[in-house]
Parts: sequence; C-alpha cells; structure tokens
Amino acid sequence: MERTLAIIKPDAVSASRTGKIVAHLEAAGLSIRAIRMLRLTETQARAFYAVHAGRPFFASLVRFMTSGAVIPMVLEGAGAVARLRQVIGATDPAEAAEGTIRKLYAESKERNAIHASDSPETAAREVAFFFPTETLVATSD
Ligand code: GDP
Repeated sequence: MERTLAIIKPDAVSASRTGKIVAHLEAAGLSIRAIRMLRLTETQARAFYAVHAGRPFFASLVRFMTSGAVIPMVLEGAGAVARLRQVIGATDPAEAAEGTIRKLYAESKERNAIHASDSPETAAREVAFFFPTETLVATSD
C-alpha cells in the first residue's frame, strides 16, 4: 500500500464540491487515512509551492490558495500516487480526460479543484507538511 497527498482547493471547497470529490476518490480505490481543513497562510502557501517560486503564475497561485479553506488529506491504495494523478486529470481542465475530477469540477488551469503529489518522494514531503506522523491512522491490514 502506498500513500499520497491530495488537497481539495479553495474553489471546490467554496462551491460545496467536497463531498462529490471525496466520493470520487473513494470509488477510485483510494482510502482516506487523515483529513483536515485549514486556511493556508501566505507563508505556508509559498512554502508548499516553493518549487514554482520562479514561475509567472506563482503570486496568483499563492493568492488563490490562501483565498479560502482547503482540505488536505492522506490517501492510501495500491499505487496511490499514480492512481490519484490519473483520477484528477491534467492540470488544465480543458486538457483533462473525460470523467476526471478536474474535467468535472475545475474552473480553470489555476482554479483546478484538487492538488495531488506528483511522485512518492513529493508525497512523503507533502504528507509531512500537513500531518505529523502520529496523526496518521495505521493501515488495518
Ligand atoms: P499540477 O501538478 O497538475 O497541480 O500542476 P503544477 O505542479 O504544474 O502546478 C501547480 C498548480 O499551479 C496547478 O495545479 C495550478 O493550480 C497552478 N498552475 C499551473 N500552471 C499554471 C498556469 O499556467 N497559470 C496559472 N494561473 N496557474 C497555473
């Protein structure tokens, strides 16, 4: 079993799409092992997206990610990192495959409903960013 990090972004939380997105993830074989809701500070958002610090959209991305509540969660399943990336679809909803979360719920390339870690190494770092080890529920099997 593998773990990865998803974040339901402010556009989807404020549009009350959380339930539909969680149902979609669970139906795709990803189980929630930890979940919380918070509003990111600017410092947290800049740190989380530090890899994009030089990009032209960075300031706008930080503004968006701090504009309202977000819901980070740890998801577990076989090949969870790749599975979650497959289920969310391409960054730009215009390019996302039919039936993916971003195709269904994203508003734009920036306001795209959900974040997913892009590799096992990133997942380990991003899970630790939001969840201290002791808050993670042990796997039952
Ligand atoms: P992801 O891994 O599919 O989330 O995509 P990236 O890691 O490349 O980008 C991180 C986030 O930055 C995306 O999910 C979008 O919210 C935002 N983003 C990416 N590319 C663009 C862009 O060209 N313009 C804007 N405004 N936002 C972008």
